[in-house]
Amino acid sequence: MKIGEIIAGLALVNSLLPLPSALPAQQSPSAQPPARSAPISNIRYELTFDSTTARERTVRVSMSFDVGGNGPVLLSLPSWTPGAYEISNFARWVEDFSAAASDKAIRWDKLDYDTWRIQPGSARALTVRFDYLADTLDNAMAWARPDFVLFNGTNLLLYPEGTGFDFPATVTVKTQPDWVVATAMKPGTAPRSFTEGNYHDLVDMPFFVGRMDYDSMQVAGRWTRLATYPAGALRDSTRKQFWDQLGRVIPVESAVFQETPWTSYNVMMIFERSFGGASALEHQSSHVGIYNPGIIGNPLLASITAHEIFHAWNVKRLRPAEMFPYHYDQAQPTPWLWVSEGITDYYADLALVRSKIVDSSQFMALTAQKANTVTTAPPTALEDASLSTWIHPTDGSNYLYYPKGSLAGLLLDVLIRDGSNNSRSLDDVMRQLYQSTYKKGRGFGPNDWWPEVSRGAGGRSFSDFYNRYIDGREPFPFAQVLPLAGMRLAPDTIKVPRLGIQTAADSTGIVIVGLLPGGVAQEAGVRPGDRLLALGDVSLTNPDFGPEFRARYGNREGAPLPIRVRRGADTLTLTGKVKLATQVELRFEADPRASAKAIRIRNGIWRGRG
Ligand SMILES: [Zn+2]
Repeated sequence: MKIGEIIAGLALVNSLLPLPSALPAQQSPSAQPPARSAPISNIRYELTFDSTTARERTVRVSMSFDVGGNGPVLLSLPSWTPGAYEISNFARWVEDFSAAASDKAIRWDKLDYDTWRIQPGSARALTVRFDYLADTLDNAMAWARPDFVLFNGTNLLLYPEGTGFDFPATVTVKTQPDWVVATAMKPGTAPRSFTEGNYHDLVDMPFFVGRMDYDSMQVAGRWTRLATYPAGALRDSTRKQFWDQLGRVIPVESAVFQETPWTSYNVMMIFERSFGGASALEHQSSHVGIYNPGIIGNPLLASITAHEIFHAWNVKRLRPAEMFPYHYDQAQPTPWLWVSEGITDYYADLALVRSKIVDSSQFMALTAQKANTVTTAPPTALEDASLSTWIHPTDGSNYLYYPKGSLAGLLLDVLIRDGSNNSRSLDDVMRQLYQSTYKKGRGFGPNDWWPEVSRGAGGRSFSDFYNRYIDGREPFPFAQVLPLAGMRLAPDTIKVPRLGIQTAADSTGIVIVGLLPGGVAQEAGVRPGDRLLALGDVSLTNPDFGPEFRARYGNREGAPLPIRVRRGADTLTLTGKVKLATQVELRFEADPRASAKAIRIRNGIWRGRG
């Protein structure tokens, strides 16, 4: 997943958190012994979304299967979508559930809140049906428009409880004849039918159905497809530029693992004006991004795309043992999201600089932005931040494993290169772990990761590094490590306008959740619950509004600042006065006095090989 980018765009506010789910994480649904469904086979899902169901914002779901035995069939819906580490309970959006054998209604009830218990009696073939309300603009969920729907298999595809996930199934989509079906799922034999050999793969293939732009190109010897909604949102020169970036990023990322693991890859993008910022979610051979259209043409879009595609290796395949295999009915916390997300974000920056989408000074600016996010957040251990994401902490540490894990990746890369005289790098560690764990059918743990890092660095021990910076909360040793790669940190003292607000972002924009006493926003009369629309004439739907706001108001202490908010049905303009705060900002720069070895290491990082 990637939402950290919005944090960068919102550097003027104190923090940006997704709205916490109102529902608690699901514990074991009952204290009884584990439930087990009667065996079912020959599983076929039929999903209907056409101009009629679109008006109701629903997907009509029908699941047919054969039954073995007379015991109850137990069918469950997942509570989360892998990659989006929060409990969502997709059963919430189910309506009009029914079960039938031939056309005869079959008795059913619920075993728990996301498991249906169906009594087949002597019936040998059953069909269950329900409608799914697709009203949530979230890449882990389902969202319908009059001519389009996004859905994930985790939202719609029931699985038999307690009998494992190793079953094949087909999915058939019924829709308007002139609408497009975009998914990375394997094509089946019938038109608009698809198939996978097990449930893990089945629910890892999101769908777009409707009117959209959909084209394809060969990249790194494989088909890459680009589905964008609404039609016309990404076209002509901006579409060409994006294709060019895909053509550069994918080969650079494949080079790290020396393998392109998909037969085809789907980039799926929604551009929606009401969406504040940017958010994307990875899958094994696709990703779904939801963006404010203001991002088009901004390098941020290439960065998020590079991040999501790198996940095809790092987390979808090379994965922490705690999430291998995925379970769908409970949280799977792991202390390793700093690797799965943070190091993925380091590789997003590397992919951009190695493919020359950004230059080395932009790479250092991206890195400095992360360092500044970390230094202004409460001291938080990477392992603790990783574990805690499921509860979305409110102390300012939420999602800190993105920028801080990315910086840990840089430090480890430098130390490995320094210890091996630049003959090995973090690339080798990632590739070795991919081979020694994912390719052997298992997840990785500390006894895989740290020995591999140590081997890469010529045998150097990392136990001190782990204790202080991964399990511990000490500030990162930039002053010692960066010079080994011919880089250094320079602090800049700057004056920045401060609003004194805490915000959360959801699909409808930016919500004020807290106000600092005596801050500009509080003095202007902003209240918790207000939705922030604009600061002066700087619109907050632009994901890059932070720099624009700072440039406009950075040296205008005391100037009037109109703050436009939506409160209930009203739009209000409240007027505050600009307040500037002194802030020390870190800047990364190339060290002109770097040694020959340090320059080789620096170039190795930016260019990919030693
Ligand atoms: Zn991610």
